Amino acid sequence: MRPLADRLRELIALEGPITVERYMDLCIRHYYAGRDPLGAAGDFTTAPEISQMFGELIGLWMLEVWHGMGRPVSCRLVELGPGRGTLMADLLRASRLLPDFRSAVSVHLVETSPALRERQRAALRASGFRIEWHDRFGEVPPGPVLLVANEFFDALPVRQFMATERGWCERLVGLEEDRLIFGLRAEPEKELGRPLRLGDVLEWPAASMEVAKALSRRLAQDGGAALIVDYGYEGPAFGDTLQAVKDHAYADPLAEPGEADLTTHVDFQRIAQGASDEKVRVHGPVTQADFLLALGIEARAAGLRQKATPAQAADIDRALARLTERGPKGMGELFKVLALAHNDLEALPGLPARSPLSA
Ligand code: SAH
Repeated sequence: MRPLADRLRELIALEGPITVERYMDLCIRHYYAGRDPLGAAGDFTTAPEISQMFGELIGLWMLEVWHGMGRPVSCRLVELGPGRGTLMADLLRASRLLPDFRSAVSVHLVETSPALRERQRAALRASGFRIEWHDRFGEVPPGPVLLVANEFFDALPVRQFMATERGWCERLVGLEEDRLIFGLRAEPEKELGRPLRLGDVLEWPAASMEVAKALSRRLAQDGGAALIVDYGYEGPAFGDTLQAVKDHAYADPLAEPGEADLTTHVDFQRIAQGASDEKVRVHGPVTQADFLLALGIEARAAGLRQKATPAQAADIDRALARLTERGPKGMGELFKVLALAHNDLEALPGLPARSPLSA
């Protein structure tokens, strides 16, 4: 494939500077389309790749919520952005405890990358389930939904606006000679009002809010719950969180377009705002550490240790520590868990309920 950098230079020379949102969109699609970026040999590692306990506990969460839904005989088990398919494989293995659940669910993976669809097919071959793939959530057929999305929303593009004396101006990517550079649109975005502090950056996750809206519409209509896990914060906050990661280290987001993983931190308040529906309730967010501990990750680790060699037991301990590590840089605290659920589901395991969003 031609390097994306060449195509971007051509596009910008022809059409002028593009928004950060469009830049991210082009980079992210290119990045995922032809590679598997996960794991030690890739660019980054995710919770399901750290330990089978992560997917298993989410599986138990699903079983319990399915009970809470009144054990519907037909239910869509959906994952957004399943990566290598590891989480779904672990989840389905954990569901062996409940044959009724297994015969009720059909598995739907929302994945745009052809390379990762192949990985998922291989990972799930032994699961015994027929898998359906979709390009977007809206293509998942009607019916009650149990959904999980781990590190999916951080991979969706955002618009960025910078606080200037003129107002909030959209951040753009343009060209200086042959080099990609950041710039600003001269005209401010009037609808955003006046900024309070010069230099602030406002991120507007339009794509994430669109997905949240589609999810909540479905949950309101057909029932069910969606579990969202990602690194992020509960806004409002102002800051540039765009980051590039390559070979497990931070990189310049403009240096190698489409060759590094581009993400932003997820603003959970905006997701909740996008999901606003009088029939849908928000649960959480809580930290990943609190969530996994409440679901019993320590007991699960102890169970696994019993059958493990000393080397395996050390791995289990390391994984447990990593998934639940506190502190601003620890995965257990940086990552948050939020669920959206039909109002009929008053309590969800591991998550405190908030008032209905419409209130
Ligand atoms: N959930 C996995 C992988 C996270 S990486 C894990 O935790 O290991 C992000 C995943 O989202 C990849 O599978 C990527 O191909 C997919 N993805 C990114 N943008 C997408 C989009 N717009 N629609 C569907 N899938 C997308």
